[in-house]
Amino acid sequence: MNGLKGKIAIVTGGTMGIGLSAAQKLSTEGCKVWICARHERENVSRDLFFHTLDVTNPASCDNLVRDVLQQDRRIDILVANAGITADSMTRKMTDEMFDSVISTNLKGIFNIVRLVGPCMEKSGGGSIITVSSIVGEYGNIGQCNYAASKGGVIAMTKSWAKEFARKGVPVRVNSVAPGYILTDMLKTVPQELLNRFASQTMIGRLGNAEEVANAIAFLASEEASYITGTVLDVNGGMRL
Ligand code: NDP
Repeated sequence: MNGLKGKIAIVTGGTMGIGLSAAQKLSTEGCKVWICARHERENVSRDLFFHTLDVTNPASCDNLVRDVLQQDRRIDILVANAGITADSMTRKMTDEMFDSVISTNLKGIFNIVRLVGPCMEKSGGGSIITVSSIVGEYGNIGQCNYAASKGGVIAMTKSWAKEFARKGVPVRVNSVAPGYILTDMLKTVPQELLNRFASQTMIGRLGNAEEVANAIAFLASEEASYITGTVLDVNGGMRL
């Protein structure tokens, strides 16, 4: 892919699952990649640079951005990927379940983009990719908190594509909306339900993290130079 060599990238939630695959893909394409999460993990390649981050904590986001700018002077790519679930039928959902998902998936993305977007404007451009979800587009039983957070991510993505374009520098902001992807996040979903989701796709199976990573890298690259404010579905045609 063009335009990725030598670029500085941050991937939130980059230590496992979709975030780790995206980080590995960007690194293979020549980026220097900072992977950020609450916990460091042993199995992560030495080519990636770990920095502690809790996206729910504005001071932690400040620390990350300050340290990356101190070392690398700029940020070219942000993959705002960190996310959690806390599923329950609405009548049983606690305040804690609702709030934790909103503060990580929705406010967490706001916390980091409000710092990185202006840096990109100042340095002459960049690409922000948010990770939303098919659930943010269509809703899901037992996931009203998650659906609200991901629907909000899509709305923020479109707002930022407009807002960060005002200075005439090319800061592109797009979202990738995965369908059901085989990562730890699906560990608690019963196999019978996973089989049903797989059968609802046109491809006949669930997705894997690398397939989402390819879409993220595409949106980060020069090949996507005329794409902003869009939501790229990576869901095997699940809702056709
Ligand atoms: P995983 O559970 O595999 O990974 C989540 C990552 O986010 C981990 O690195 C975790 O690290 C990090 N994280 C969680 N909370 C925080 C926090 N407060 N601050 C910083 N990092 C945090 O998830 P997936 O790879 O499956 O999902 C990645 C993204 O894709 C999420 O936004 C998810 O909603 C979305 N998605 C996933 C789908 C799927 O089917 N898997 C489908 C659609 C969307 P740590 O715990 O150490 O902080």
